[in-house]
Amino acid sequence: MLVSKTITEFNAIIKNTSQVDVLFGYCYPSTYRAGMTGLALHILYSALNARNDTSCERYFRYQTQSPVLSIETGRPLRNNHIIGFTLTYEEDILNLVQMIEMGGIPVLSIDRTAEDPVVIVGGPVVSANPEPYTDFIDAFVIGEGDVVIHNIIESVKDAESRDDVIAAMAEIEGVYVPRITQSSVSRNIIIDLDSLVYPTRQIIPDVEDGSAFEPVFGKSFLLEVTRGCGHSCRFCLVGHICQPRRTRSLDCLKKLVETGMQHTPAKKVSLIGSSLGDLDSLEDLVCWIVNKGLEVSVPSLRADSVSENLLDCLVKGGQRTLTIAPETGSEVLRKNMGKGLSDSDIYEAVGYAERVGYNSVKLYFIIGLPEETPSDIASTIHMVREIANKTSMKVTVSVNPFVPKAQTRWQLEPQPEIMVLRKKIKEIEEGLRNTPRVTVETLDLRSARIQAALSIGDRSLGKVIKAAARYGGFGGWRRAEKETGVPFFSLANNTERRKENLPWSFLQ
Ligand code: SF4
Repeated sequence: MLVSKTITEFNAIIKNTSQVDVLFGYCYPSTYRAGMTGLALHILYSALNARNDTSCERYFRYQTQSPVLSIETGRPLRNNHIIGFTLTYEEDILNLVQMIEMGGIPVLSIDRTAEDPVVIVGGPVVSANPEPYTDFIDAFVIGEGDVVIHNIIESVKDAESRDDVIAAMAEIEGVYVPRITQSSVSRNIIIDLDSLVYPTRQIIPDVEDGSAFEPVFGKSFLLEVTRGCGHSCRFCLVGHICQPRRTRSLDCLKKLVETGMQHTPAKKVSLIGSSLGDLDSLEDLVCWIVNKGLEVSVPSLRADSVSENLLDCLVKGGQRTLTIAPETGSEVLRKNMGKGLSDSDIYEAVGYAERVGYNSVKLYFIIGLPEETPSDIASTIHMVREIANKTSMKVTVSVNPFVPKAQTRWQLEPQPEIMVLRKKIKEIEEGLRNTPRVTVETLDLRSARIQAALSIGDRSLGKVIKAAARYGGFGGWRRAEKETGVPFFSLANNTERRKENLPWSFLQ
């Protein structure tokens, strides 16, 4: 158990740094809660500390005593040989740049000297398009980092200088070093998940249930079941950059749960993966976990892959909200986006949930999709009303604007203007105003605009990011756009970009 000024944790690791060769700072550029929810932190922390030659300690932008002093021992960020960030959300780039600066490390990669740590980044955002961030980052991990992280540590150990480390990294498959010309970079994919070492001794904060420090899934053992997805919806990053879909065997998953529950002080197992319902053995796995007296949770499920028995086991395992993503109330538009769910799949899944005792359903919709018509918005309103009227469950409707993402089949589609999106949201809110038990949640439209620009942008965004990090917040992005003259906020609906070379075309 580790005690820091703000957080007490189980399973954190403190090493005698005089007995290791490499000091690694794992950084999450947002809250402690968000970082501790992500599987990447647990995988990398465990893999790095399993090495006798490496000490890995963690840093978070918010909720800790300092973003640049480690949770474990207060090690200053710049004392590490290498600092590695996971960038899960585009906008967190501002937090990342701020952490580097607060740590006394030059913000621009080009200004760093032999005394400064090497700054690397991985995660879905940079695996799709690293170009907007190249000014700040020495090396990017493209794709899955489980194996490559060991090659990176070896390059740090073997090198005589910081420049040598960076040059050696450019030789590693799946690592992109912007300052060294690489004609193409391939994406790391691990085919056999059973063969990977998995973290069974996961860090759990010792906090009250519902505490602001508690990970989003609660105090639970994270069990990664699959990577990638067997579908390829046109808008979805996971459906494009994490292919092919891979899964652990049922035997392997059961062994991981058994070992994990011996070493991780939790009574709940949170299954991690996309489109888990497609897995033949999901029902067996969930019911087996519940029969062991544990709680269980699964993320969003595809409506066409749930059975009444599966939902019954999930209710027994403590899950009370069914989360599904119809994306739109229109079956035609849904098919057009490659989602392949029928209306009856959705109504049937909701009906099962009501029968087995769920008390709420969460529905995700996207607005501003290519080829969307006013009648598609009307269909969405109709679908939510039908669900609310035919069940007694609470219905939470999450409405999110379409964000074109690099490397998806809709990467060149424009995001509609904010005014257009606002009108659609208003229509949905008004259409559902008098429907009982329905709550509508929406993403801030400015945030969607920023995400879109960063998703599809190029290196010219570096100066916008640098200025915005100085000012902070939404207003900071506006000021940065004005100051730099880079048309940041209009990037996502600029159809002219279709004629240009894609900034990420060198990624295989
Ligand atoms: S089913 Fe879900 S995870 Fe899979 S591609 Fe479609 S939206 Fe993405």
